[in-house]
Amino acid sequence: MSNFRRVDEDFFDDLEETLIKADVGAETAFQLTDELRDEVKLQNAKSKEEVSKVVLDKLVEHYEQQGINEDATMHFAKSGPTVILFVGVNGVGKTTTIGKLAARYKQEDKKVLLAAADTFRAGATQQLQVWGERDGVEVIAGSAGSDPASVVYDGVQAAIEQQADILFVDTAGRLQNNQNLMQELAKMKRIIERELPEQPMEVLLVLDSTTGQNAIQQAKLFKDSTDVTGIVLTKLDGTAKGGIILPIRNELHLPVKWIGLGEQVGDLQPFNAKDFAQSLFG
Ligand code: GDP
Repeated sequence: MSNFRRVDEDFFDDLEETLIKADVGAETAFQLTDELRDEVKLQNAKSKEEVSKVVLDKLVEHYEQQGINEDATMHFAKSGPTVILFVGVNGVGKTTTIGKLAARYKQEDKKVLLAAADTFRAGATQQLQVWGERDGVEVIAGSAGSDPASVVYDGVQAAIEQQADILFVDTAGRLQNNQNLMQELAKMKRIIERELPEQPMEVLLVLDSTTGQNAIQQAKLFKDSTDVTGIVLTKLDGTAKGGIILPIRNELHLPVKWIGLGEQVGDLQPFNAKDFAQSLFG
């Protein structure tokens, strides 16, 4: 018994440290750990597995109460195409997420088109075309170096003509020239709004969870320049914890809509409080 108690205390010490490290905030971390300790006693959990389960359930309840799942859904037009614009810096996983999400919606019998509006980076269009072939969906592309806004225009026209349900737009992510990139994104958005004035649009900001605080800086930057409607948090299959979700929610008020859990087509899940709790804890 005394042996178990020690294991128990080590467990809660680790948990407290994890919560602090995951940017939950020290005060909340202490309070939450106390509540979890009480709950474990109350439930009379004995083995490590039982303790883990009680803690996980309680964490899920806590985050659900905080409204962490609020507005994590995607908004689609009742009829006609909905455009989903993907923004974020190079390498975070925009193209991969589009490939995964396109496959998912195609499976739901939606007509999907892709637009390769990163005409800046060599190979970006080709990479999207690989996903297009794999998913069996058409990719609208321009020539290298062409105006990305014109690719977006062509994509929207194709979506209207072909009565597509969803047009995914892949965009550039060069950070070395912020201002140009933000202007470019604003131009794309204007074109979409002009061509499809009645339709809802999603602007999903993709963030790499392994970059920690950097991801929060990126989120601020993009939020100031484009009307981001949600976050995709990628690479949660590695060692990264999902702790940055909390500051993103609390400071930037942006919902996390999807999480990326690998490089394969099936490695994408809608975000929910349980995943979040597990990512903190696991
Ligand atoms: P982009 O530049 O933002 O379009 O990023 P890419 O889609 O090209 O992704 C960059 C790299 O990250 C590629 O090697 C992807 O396979 C990888 N990647 C994307 N999402 C995930 C993820 O959720 N988990 C892991 N492990 N790798 C990912």
